[in-house]
Amino acid sequence: MAAAAGRARGSRGRGAVGLATELGAQRDVVARAPMFGRAVNFAVMDDPRPTAGPGAEAANGWTLMAVHAHPDDEAIGTGGVLARYAAEGVQTVLVTCTNGEQGDAMGGVQPGEEGHHPEEVAAVRLAELRTSAAVLGVDHLELLDYRDSGMDGWSANKDPGVFCNVPLPEVSRRLAQLMRHYRPQVVVTYDANGNYGHPDHIQAHRATVAAAESTGIPAKFYYLAIPRSGFLQVRQLMQASGVSTDDFDLPPDFGVPDEQITTVVDVSAYVGQKREALDAHVSQNQNFFFDRLPDEITTAILSRESFTLRSATNGSAREDDLFAGLRKETTRGA
Ligand SMILES: [Zn+2]
Repeated sequence: MAAAAGRARGSRGRGAVGLATELGAQRDVVARAPMFGRAVNFAVMDDPRPTAGPGAEAANGWTLMAVHAHPDDEAIGTGGVLARYAAEGVQTVLVTCTNGEQGDAMGGVQPGEEGHHPEEVAAVRLAELRTSAAVLGVDHLELLDYRDSGMDGWSANKDPGVFCNVPLPEVSRRLAQLMRHYRPQVVVTYDANGNYGHPDHIQAHRATVAAAESTGIPAKFYYLAIPRSGFLQVRQLMQASGVSTDDFDLPPDFGVPDEQITTVVDVSAYVGQKREALDAHVSQNQNFFFDRLPDEITTAILSRESFTLRSATNGSAREDDLFAGLRKETTRGA
């Protein structure tokens, strides 16, 4: 499920004390990492890295890299595939481009409102991201440390220092360094519209495309896809369940036409981990619509993740595995 559908605004009550307690508990979890028996390497990438090095390659040689714009996008858009491929022994690399300064502060306080301090929001969200990454079994979390540009049309867009205004060659160069370091066979990021027009998602898309083209490293390059039919179905289910869709006012042509989707991955066995990762983003949970739906509907939504293979011009290549055609010789789940 992708960002816009996951971020429709709604009300959901949790007390500030409870939020703080949960966050404190999660920080303890971070301190106890590695979880699930996998080491988690949290790095802020400031300096050029060696193009390859010890530890950069997965034990079985397979690597998945997901490039996201904000803390929480990894759980919403790719929590299932990150968890599933980690469980299958694939090295997973999560690149998060910004620190999420334009997200909500604790308690749903929005940017520009009293009590919203961008640097504090960033600190909270990066802690939440570390918890989410640990829950999902991410091996390497790479933070590019850019500033969140805010949603399309927000005044922050005009700030020359925010991510969407960073010269593209700078960002793509850094992503290319990471691709040379980790050698991912599979890379996933947003589509050309950032899946719903967020300027940071569009910048992440452009930079990742440029990095993939300049390095030639990913054998398969995917865009996250929200199936149009699935989006409409969710809206109908919400209405049928008596759940308000007032904040779910996306255009009817929102999402990717189903015939353009090449790859649908069954992540039903990882819904629990995905929910736990989503729950880690405590400060943003007023933006998640999942909790407003009956449980079985939420589970169904979270059970599949859809993608469009960049090299495919139509949906003819129906796959159920991002590594389809690459790891024939390995046993699934090994
Ligand atoms: Zn985002």
